Amino acid sequence: MFTADKIDDNELNNNKITHILTILDYKPNYIDNNRTYLYIYAEDLQSTDLLTNDFEKCFQFIDNTIEQGHQILIHCQSGISRSATITAMYLMRKYSLTREQAIERLIEKRHNWMIMPNDGFLKQLDLFYQMNYKIDKENQLYQEFQCKRFDLIEQKTSTSKFILNDENEKEYKCRNFHWKLFTNNDIQIHEENSINICDNKTKIFTYFLDWIDDIFDNSFGKIICPNCKIILGEYSLHGIQCNCHQWIKPAFVFQCQFIE
Ligand SMILES: [Zn+2]
Ligand SMILES: [Zn+2]
Repeated sequence: MFTADKIDDNELNNNKITHILTILDYKPNYIDNNRTYLYIYAEDLQSTDLLTNDFEKCFQFIDNTIEQGHQILIHCQSGISRSATITAMYLMRKYSLTREQAIERLIEKRHNWMIMPNDGFLKQLDLFYQMNYKIDKENQLYQEFQCKRFDLIEQKTSTSKFILNDENEKEYKCRNFHWKLFTNNDIQIHEENSINICDNKTKIFTYFLDWIDDIFDNSFGKIICPNCKIILGEYSLHGIQCNCHQWIKPAFVFQCQFIE
């Protein structure tokens, strides 16, 4: 596969590029110490959330570079979806544009080269406009967006789901005050070395539980008991590796010592 690791130094020098903003799902391994970098982890998926944290980070990085009179390269893999979204976002806020106006400007500048953010990114740009170019987590449209986004994440993984559907429902509770956390039907089972079902005695992987609403703010973090606030485990939309080496994505992991 073609990777966007190495950018031709001559081209960068000719264009006086001092700052590089990379929006990719792997970190480029070529770093030139004479330039300033910002790396944003993002897959080109409809469920990827650039809006919540990354828009602001990228805006500041681009704006500071330009305000200091420097030149910036904004790139992803093929330059049509992820980097185009970030650049459109910047133009929108900077010049009070709609999504359509910003993309039109990009297409003009790139001499009609294709610009095609994926549908999820288009929605995020529209939402950014509707929220007056800032993030308002209380906004109803923002909350609807996050719910729909999570449906997409779940659909993406549903093909690899083993459905247990045990009739004898067993409840799992927080050790502290016996707060109900999930049942055996929420437990996600995975294969170890594609033959055996993994039998991990220290951790339990579950599907998304609707009380873990931190995922709408951060793509990874601790799972905290809603009742007593102790840390029960961790989650990551980027995935977590089980002891058996299998990657689970997205992952919601409970440490068995904290539950009963
Ligand atoms: Zn608790
Ligand atoms: Zn495992």
